[in-house]
Amino acid sequence: MNIKTWPDSALSKKCAPVEKFDERLTNLLEELTDVLKDEKALGICANQLGFLECVFLIKLKNEEILEIVNPEILEQYGEQFGPEGCLSFRGIFPNIKRAKNVHAKWKNRNGEEKEGVFYDLEAREFLHEFDHTLGKTLLDNVNRAERKRILKEMK
Ligand SMILES: [Zn+2]
Repeated sequence: MNIKTWPDSALSKKCAPVEKFDERLTNLLEELTDVLKDEKALGICANQLGFLECVFLIKLKNEEILEIVNPEILEQYGEQFGPEGCLSFRGIFPNIKRAKNVHAKWKNRNGEEKEGVFYDLEAREFLHEFDHTLGKTLLDNVNRAERKRILKEMK
């Protein structure tokens, strides 16, 4: 499965919520898991494989891979600033400001409601992947000069 890299149009489109919690969704989650493991990444969103759906994975501190469907941010607070990577921007790690804590709800693969609070790196991962579902990338979180530098590096 090919990972879409910038400037693939799949990365700048808003993803649609999942309506059917069926075998197709399970297959998509399994596929995302395979890529995440192969790439030793901390997170991946469905649109990075070309599926414009609100589905992503994040790897937690305890190594567990959390499946997130139809996420909603309830509250975010605090601030952290640090380097962030993305499978769609190979070799690029700009410093990005994120909330330190995120309180969110989502659905699991069976359509059951889940809720939780993410801290530090997990919050960064969650917010990064959440951005993907909105059609946003690293580029939407840096200033103009940094954006220009990244685009030059992507060539
Ligand atoms: Zn990414």
